[in-house]
Amino acid sequence: MGTTVDHSTNWPYESGEPARFSYARTAHPAGVACEEALGALDGGRALLFPSGMAAATTALLTLARPGATVALAEGAYYGHHLLLHQLAPWGIDCVEFDQTGPPPPADLVFVESPANPLLTMPDFAAVAAHPAPVVCDATVASPLRVRPLDHGCDLALHSATKVLSGHDDALAGVLVTRDDDLYERLLAMRSRTGIVASADTAWRVHRRLATLEERLTRQEATARFLVERLHAHPAVRTVRYPGFSFLISFDVADGEAAHRVERSLGTIVNATSLGGVRSKLEARTRWEGDRCPPGLLRLSVGLEDADELWSDLEQALENRLIASPDGPAP
Ligand code: PLP
Repeated sequence: MGTTVDHSTNWPYESGEPARFSYARTAHPAGVACEEALGALDGGRALLFPSGMAAATTALLTLARPGATVALAEGAYYGHHLLLHQLAPWGIDCVEFDQTGPPPPADLVFVESPANPLLTMPDFAAVAAHPAPVVCDATVASPLRVRPLDHGCDLALHSATKVLSGHDDALAGVLVTRDDDLYERLLAMRSRTGIVASADTAWRVHRRLATLEERLTRQEATARFLVERLHAHPAVRTVRYPGFSFLISFDVADGEAAHRVERSLGTIVNATSLGGVRSKLEARTRWEGDRCPPGLLRLSVGLEDADELWSDLEQALENRLIASPDGPAP
């Protein structure tokens, strides 16, 4: 990967014929270089998209037909639930199921390993035995921890906005498959719909992959440290952590208590999104309503010092900043 990005939208034909690159909506050099690196991580052929939801949309347009039923993991990323309901006028029906058991009859199965924010894992054996194609979103694991294609899924999906790029400055998504026919169908859908990531985005995601292993390993070590302490804190009712990943979700008493924790944070940023080098925490009910427990807080662990993060969490759980006259206004 060089440090110059080819921003061309078209390239001259060679001897009167299109060469490897002819028009950027189909493929461009930075995109292909990034896709080769992403494909190697997941053990398949990758396609890059301008967001995780663009990847999910392309997967659905390619694999679902009018009248199709899509079985979606309960507690999976809220955006997938919204997208499937958005597509209802196109004749797509969505049923949600507990992904720790077998999926119900469906034309397409959509699981998440682990689910954001409930952090359940799919029953991969049951999913692989299902006759329908299976899409698995492994954003919260990254391909370094879960490679869905190794578990019998047809398509791995990642929001590369999260830990793959890791610095909160690139919006991107990825699909990866080992099925050449499916790859060609996805590529055709992407080219025809024009759901294409820019050269700059591709270059940025590619560049950040060089530090993925180091970032993730340290984020996980800090996450395990925080999980232990959260378990022991009297204000914390439930702690969810799958044993790997930068993402933790835990419950305090109710929505009001969760909101107080949000407003008491110092080091940890009260913002949405996950996987970046800055730790972020938010109450998910603001987006998901009763789809998740009212006191659920989602914490994405970054690269800050572990003790500093725990001091911040501990004081926020006790609302010390809010109580202090010098603290932020309630
Ligand atoms: N999948 C998961 C698990 C996510 O958390 C998100 C976004 O938060 C997405 C997909 C969608 O990705 P993007 O925001 O890049 O469209």
